[in-house]
Formats: sequence, structure tokens, C-alpha cells
Amino acid sequence: MNNQCDIAIIGGGPVGTALALALRDSDLKIVVLEARKVEEQNADPRALALSYGSRLLLDKLGVWKNISQISAIKTIHISQKNTAGYTYLFADELKVPELGYVLPYPALQASLHQALKQTNATYLECAAVNKLDNDASGATLTYQYDGQEHRLSARLAVVADGGKLFENTHPPKVSEYGQSAVIAHITCNKPQADTAFERFTAQGPVALLPYLDGYEIVWTGSHAQAEDMLAWDDAKFLSELHLHFGSEVGEFTSVGKRSSFPLRLKRAPNTTFPHTVLIGNAAQTLHPVAGQGFNMGVRDAWELSRVILRGQPAALGSAAMLADYRKSRRLDRNAGIGFTDGLVRIFSNDLPVLSSARGVALSLLGKVPFAKKFVAKRMMFGANG
Ligand SMILES: Cc1cc2nc3c(=O)[nH]c(=O)nc-3n(C[C@H](O)[C@H](O)[C@H](O)COP(=O)(O)OP(=O)(O)OC[C@H]3O[C@@H](n4cnc5c(N)ncnc54)[C@H](O)[C@@H]3O)c2cc1C
Repeated sequence: MNNQCDIAIIGGGPVGTALALALRDSDLKIVVLEARKVEEQNADPRALALSYGSRLLLDKLGVWKNISQISAIKTIHISQKNTAGYTYLFADELKVPELGYVLPYPALQASLHQALKQTNATYLECAAVNKLDNDASGATLTYQYDGQEHRLSARLAVVADGGKLFENTHPPKVSEYGQSAVIAHITCNKPQADTAFERFTAQGPVALLPYLDGYEIVWTGSHAQAEDMLAWDDAKFLSELHLHFGSEVGEFTSVGKRSSFPLRLKRAPNTTFPHTVLIGNAAQTLHPVAGQGFNMGVRDAWELSRVILRGQPAALGSAAMLADYRKSRRLDRNAGIGFTDGLVRIFSNDLPVLSSARGVALSLLGKVPFAKKFVAKRMMFGANG
């Protein structure tokens, strides 16, 4: 392969691939370098809740129509354990066909990759970037591929690697939640069609996302609690879940393979690097409480593509272009981080005063159409809506 390109995308996860697709009609020479084999990406156990706004973007990328095995969310039930306060968000109230969708990470990846094959972008699988140098003239990547070290020069390097490459050299700002999420597919005897549940509890939120015959569960707790959840046998897991979540969907009847993820908020430092930009989880890694991570990442990718396409070709990777991109993302990024972080911190405790105030706030949210619409729009479209 020629060792020069216009844009090198480090990380062929959903955000990096979405960017390559968003630039497919340009004449730019784009190379995507992905460390994992497709089989490894296919083993990723995460299920993602996509917002209606992300669906519209994936539609524009030509990806939506190819996604298989997707379930819709038309209602979201939000409640708090041990208080009466709860609220519902309904798609028809907000005049959208669906509030969101649930699908496995590999299904999204498969569809993005299928679409990428129809473009001129080069996708290198098993290409692990281990160094990125940049100066005023451009960026140079060093990567391992096929047992050898290679170099690639680019006018713009886009770091979409989930946050690994710069972890040690330019560490992100990290806020620890002291929580892990245990995820699994569960079934129950009274599923509620197209309804997602978000229940706040003192140990952290628990979400049930409707998927096929049951729900994808995201159950958060302290790291020690998560270890216990992984160790319990199925019967114990299901009965503890019932105690924790309640009877809203009847009895839980089965649980699939469980995995856990430590949760923390990571923000890339404000440092700017010549000819380099960070997007998706590499720029911000969020708690999954509001299902915002990929949704924000795909907006990063889309907005970066718009800034690139509306700029002069010679401006690719310039300080002015990168500043333009950062400016366009500032509001949505800060609002998304603040919203997600605020939800975790306000709800993950059992202080009696806060607990009753939250219960009242949840009930009120359901009764004040403006507030309800505001929250739902933020979740669906972000702050730039
Ligand atoms: C439990 C859990 C539940 C979640 N639920 C939701 C949800 O409901 N909705 C939502 O929107 N988001 C959710 N998220 C967040 C979502 O998974 C991420 O925001 C999204 O995957 C970010 O995509 P990305 O492409 O930026 O990074 P990643 O998905 O991390 O992809 C990065 C890619 O870069 C590759 N890579 C890494 N290092 C290198 C390197 N050196 N060289 C080359 N390639 C490299 C990796 O192999 C990987 O394929 C959840 C996250 C977790 C942990």
C-alpha cells in the first residue's frame, strides 16, 4: 500500500467507520486501521441503544437499511427504587415514530463494514497503530501489520480508537464512578412491547432495553457487587434482579452470558495536536446510563465530515479546520457529558432528602410537557438538536 493518504482513521469501530462512510463521496484518500479481527469485533457483547437522531444519521450513511435484528423503543419508563416517582416518555407524544432502537454492537459493525466495502476507502484489519507523530506538515502513524512495522503519512489523523493510543502519553481526565456494569440478555414472563426501563437505585442505574424475546440488561453496581453478579448462578442472578428491579415485567426466566465493564468518565485533555483530532470514545467515554456514547460519537463523526467537506481541500488538517470542528462540537459534547455525569451523581446515592426530591422531580417531569420534551430531545438529538 502507498504510504501516504489524506485521512488516516485509527480504529475501525463504529465511530471511525461512520466517519469513513460520511466522506465516501469525496475524492479524499482514506485509510482505516483497525487492530482487531472481524471475529473479535463480532464477539463484543455490548448491546447499544441508538437514538432516533442516530438512526437518521445512519440512514444518511446508507447503513440503516442493512441492519438486521433490531428492536424499537417506543416508550421509556423512568423510575427510582424505593420511591413512588416515575415518568414515561412516549414516541407519539414527541411526534417521532420511535424514541430509539436496540441492537448488538456486532450487528451495527457488520452493517457499517458492508457499506464501507462499497466505497474507495481502504480498511486494514489487524493493523495496530502504536505511534502517532505530528508536526506542522502532517501526521505519521507507525503500525504493525502482517508481522511487520509500517508507516503511513496523512494530512489528517483521526483517533477513533476508543481512547487507547494516547492513554499513557496524553492521559485523559478521569472521573471514577466506582461502578461496573454487568450486561446480559434476559427473558421474563411479562415483557412490555417496545418499552425500555431505566431504574435509578442507590447502587447505580439498572436499564432493561427491549431486544427480541426479552431485554438487554445493563445492571450497575460497585465493582465488588458486579463481581458477585458475575459469580451467582443463574437462579440467584434472576431472583436478585427481581428484588432489585421489581415486578414491572413479571418474573425473570432466563439469563444469557454475562460480561462486565468498569465505568468511568474519560475526557481527552484540551491539548491540541497538529493535523490530529480525537472523536468518539477517544474524545469522551461516558457512563452508559443515558445510552449516549455511540450516539455522541456518531455526531462527532458526522460533524467532522461536514467540516472537512465544506473546507478548502488545502485546509485539511489545518489548525483553523480543527478549531472549526472543536467549536462546532463544544456545546453538544459538554452538554452530553454534563447530562450523563449529572444523572449518575444525582441518582446513585440514598440520601433521604435527595431521594424524595428526585421522586417528586420524576413525577413532575411527566406532568410538564416542556421539560419532558426537552429531556427527550436531548437524548434523541443532543444539544445541537
Ligand atoms: C456496557 C456498555 C453499554 C453501552 N451502551 C451504550 C448505549 O446503549 N448507547 C450508546 O450510544 N453507547 C453505549 N455504550 C458506549 C458505546 O459502546 C461506545 O460509545 C462506542 O462503542 C464508541 O465507539 P468508538 O468507535 O469510538 O470506540 P470503540 O467501540 O471502542 O472502537 C474503537 C476501535 O478501535 C480499535 N483500536 C483500538 N486501539 C487501536 C489501535 N492502536 N490501532 C488500531 N485500532 C485500534 C479497537 O479495536 C476498536 O475496534 C456502551 C458502553 C458500554 C461499556
